[in-house]
Parts: sequence; C-alpha cells; structure tokens
Amino acid sequence: MPNVKAAYIWLDGCEPVSTLRAKTKILDNEINELSDIPDWGFDGSSTEQAEGKDSDCVLKPVKFVKDPLRGTPHILVMCEVLDAQGMRHPSNKRALLRKLAEDTASQEPWFGIEQEYTLFKEGRPLGWPEPHSGYPGPQGPYYCGIGAERVYGRKLIEEHLEACLQAGLTVSGINAEVMPGQWEYQIGPLGALEVSDEIWLSRWILERLGEKHGIAVSLEPKPITGDWNGAGAHTNFSTKEMREEGGMKAIEEAIEKLRVKHGEHIAAYGPNNDQRLTGLHETAPITEFRAGVSDRGASVRIPLATAQKRRGYLEDRRPAANMDPYKVCAKLLETVCN
Ligand code: ADP
Ligand code: MN
Ligand code: MN
Ligand code: MN
Repeated sequence: MPNVKAAYIWLDGCEPVSTLRAKTKILDNEINELSDIPDWGFDGSSTEQAEGKDSDCVLKPVKFVKDPLRGTPHILVMCEVLDAQGMRHPSNKRALLRKLAEDTASQEPWFGIEQEYTLFKEGRPLGWPEPHSGYPGPQGPYYCGIGAERVYGRKLIEEHLEACLQAGLTVSGINAEVMPGQWEYQIGPLGALEVSDEIWLSRWILERLGEKHGIAVSLEPKPITGDWNGAGAHTNFSTKEMREEGGMKAIEEAIEKLRVKHGEHIAAYGPNNDQRLTGLHETAPITEFRAGVSDRGASVRIPLATAQKRRGYLEDRRPAANMDPYKVCAKLLETVCN
C-alpha cells in the first residue's frame, strides 16, 4: 500500500483576508491524476466558514504537486471550498477567477507576481536588535546584499527556493529586500489560476519551513513604521497583444482602463495597504494613480525593456504583500480583458 500523505490546503473565511489551513489525509492508492484524490471535508465553524450547527464544508481538490517537505510519494493538494450542497462557498474566490480565466483565455493573459515578505523572530524582524537597544543601520546596504551583517535568514530562503523548485513551482527568482529581514521571490509568468495557486502553495511551503526554524513569516504591507520599506506583491501582467510587435498601444490602453478603476482595485489589493502606499519608499500615494516608464514611485510601472521594445508587460505596483492573488488577478482580467 502506498500510504500517500496528502496535505489538503485551503483558504479560510477570515476577513479581511483569508489565511491558509491544511490537514492531512492518508491515501492508500497511487496518485497519478487529480481524479485519484478524493473530495474531503472539514469543520467550517472553526475557520469562519460555517455555523456550528451546520458546520461541514467540502474540500474539492483542484491541483496537486509533490510535497517537498515530506518527499516522495507525498503530495500537497490545493483545494476549493464548497458548501454542504456542493455549491461555491462565498469565501471561494478561486471559482470566480476560474470563470474569468476561461472567458479571457483567447487573449493569453500572463502574470508574474513578486512576493515580498518579512521574517520575524521573538516579535521583531529577523536579525534586528532587541527592543530598546536601537535599530539596524539605515536602509541602503540590504537590498540584494550579502554578508552576515546585511542579510538575515538566508538558510531558510534557500531551503524555500529549493523546496518550491522540487514541488515543480515556476519560481523565476529570489532577492534580499530593502529592509533588513525582508525578502522576495517571484512566480511566473503563468496564467491567472496557475500563478495564484502557486503563490498560495509557495506561501504555504514558506510558513511550514519557518516552523522548522522557529521563524514566522509576515505578509503585513508595513511591518515596521517609519523609514523602512513596506512589503508588496507587484503584479506583472501582459496579454498576447501586449507581447507582440507594437504591443505598447495595448499596454497604454490597459493603463487607462486601470486608472478609472483605481479605488475599486485598491479595495481588493490587500488590507493595511494605506500604511504602505504613502508616496515614499518606492510607492505612489494610495489616493493617486500614476503610470510611468521605469518609475518606482508610480502605481503602474512600464519596465525599461518594454518601453524600448515597444512591447512586453506592465507592472502593477499597488498590490500589498498580503493580497489574495485570486482577487488581484480577477481585477486585472475583468478590467483589461473585457
Ligand atoms: P522587478 O524589476 O520589478 O523587481 P522582478 O524581476 O522581480 O521585477 O519580477 C518580474 C516578474 O515579471 C517575474 O515574475 C517575471 O516572470 C514576470 N514577467 C516577465 N515577463 C512577463 C510578461 N510578459 N508578462 C507577465 N509577467 C512577466
Ligand atoms: Mn522584484
Ligand atoms: Mn521587490
Ligand atoms: Mn517590482
């Protein structure tokens, strides 16, 4: 008997943003395709997804990957949540994105998400001095830095990179960030559902590895107030038309569509983002929409290479690190591809 440990992963109903939950089922069959993995259930009254008197919710497997923590033949199973009648649960934003992704597939939308995050230990960012004993030196040497007095947590982030690759996720890179203890990895480019599933799975792997090291992962957009960079989830986006000869016209049209929906998008781009989008620290103020070539103080940046070739992609710099990619990708598809 194979005794496959299948970690069923789903998003809870917590507001204003869902968090990850998981529990493990032992499967005694070989897993070759999605249909080899049975639906399962959980107590929705413990996850803000149901009342105690009618608590059962359904876990519907939608994607599986190799489990890099437990090794072969074990798997991670991303699930959508359904109610007891088998209908979409209100917390299930993936199902809404699934529909939008199908409707816009002919435009071949691609997403690349830069996930920034901050490592914490003993209630402060990793590597920071004890409370009341000052702060690290000012920002400057930490971004893409090296050396024991500039970067903290390298061991964990290298393990995370390796684990994501072993799971078959499309990580495109990693770097140390501007604030000490802050890091970034990128997923993509991929379709909307794929990039979003992989962001959630990669966040899950990071949290699990953090447990091993006694290091917590914060996705707060502004974990430390003051002259310290916040954490975002820049979302790079293109359609087939944007990537082809003369695609700049489509990019400029997309930017104008984004401009008029600014408020609506900000509402879906993660809680506490007002603390991050101040106009300082490589952001545009939350109340303004600005676009520009190479401009890291813009809401939407056109990368230099895209401006030079007159085709490529745009970077939406507004999403916060704690955003739900199912919601952000849905907003972009809804606004640009409809
Ligand atoms: P930055 O210079 O903003 O730090 P990164 O290199 O961290 O940029 O991230 C850029 C992301 O954009 C990567 O995830 C990459 O895969 C993605 N990307 C590249 N080309 C495209 C494209 N045509 N459409 C969407 N995303 C893209
Ligand atoms: Mn980046
Ligand atoms: Mn970054
Ligand atoms: Mn970026």
